[in-house]
Amino acid sequence: MKYSEQAFERAEAELSRRRKRAEEIHIKRTEEINRIAPEIAVLQRSLSNTGAELMKLVMEKREDTAEIIEKVKEKNLRTQETIKDMLQVVKGDRNYLDVPYSCAICGDTGYSGGARCECLKGLLKKYTIEEINSNCHIKLHDFTEFRLEYYDNTSINGAVPREKMAQNYQFCRDYALNFGKGSPSLFFFGRTGLGKTFLSSCIAKQLTENGFNVAFGSILDFLRAVENERFGRAEGDTLEILINADLLILDDLGSEFQTAFNESALYDIINSRINLDRPTIISTNLSASELNGRYNERIVSRITGCFDPIPFIGKDIRHVKRQFKY
Ligand SMILES: [Zn+2]
Repeated sequence: MKYSEQAFERAEAELSRRRKRAEEIHIKRTEEINRIAPEIAVLQRSLSNTGAELMKLVMEKREDTAEIIEKVKEKNLRTQETIKDMLQVVKGDRNYLDVPYSCAICGDTGYSGGARCECLKGLLKKYTIEEINSNCHIKLHDFTEFRLEYYDNTSINGAVPREKMAQNYQFCRDYALNFGKGSPSLFFFGRTGLGKTFLSSCIAKQLTENGFNVAFGSILDFLRAVENERFGRAEGDTLEILINADLLILDDLGSEFQTAFNESALYDIINSRINLDRPTIISTNLSASELNGRYNERIVSRITGCFDPIPFIGKDIRHVKRQFKY
């Protein structure tokens, strides 16, 4: 996986912030313990003196050095346990004087055993997705901004748009709240201006706030980026990021150019994510017959077989919105 220099710089800066914060807390806690429980501080100093003692022993080259070192180690372990027991009594936390790093594996350095730690990989992935999303220019919205009154309250072909949208809204909120690896893939379909992109963006915002990696953009922009990278016109790994994001939202299926490359890349993305059990949300203004006419059978059958259909109905709310004075 290739990451941009910018993603590395941001990850380094974040890790450095985390280390600094952990060390500041550690210093404050050490001062507090010195003040309220000086007996613990005395034990701690005795621990830090043993390093010098051991060094002296090694220099003296005594015959029983190994034996003494073993004893000192045992004593140190006992002292450490005593300190922890005392911290439990004083602060209710045995590990109160450990440096509270966000990642206990790497101590917020980003590396463990010479390899990238999972925490660094997570940050690189997060920042890379943010870069990709920022190139796609779709504004994120909050569920609280949703206005049901924009939707018509009269029946159209036996269904009331406002009722249907109330269901869709509730469904999307629940989806975002309960999101996980087994969540279903969704297919938002209906005419332009019915809130498909809006509700997708609400899901994207909520999941991002909950710590998930969400790649969200128009299919046109995503496929253009993939193509530019494939033919060496740009640097990056958009295809891999789209396949591996926790949630991928492909907005406006049908807006991309109809080329063999796009069709193959699109199938690759959708199919790989299904195989990896990673949910995808696709939205489109295309009707069922337009979808069938435009895409080959294997893409259509993946969408119809593996995505839950969510219909959006009613009149284009962009006209209705102008009548409301918010
Ligand atoms: Zn780590």
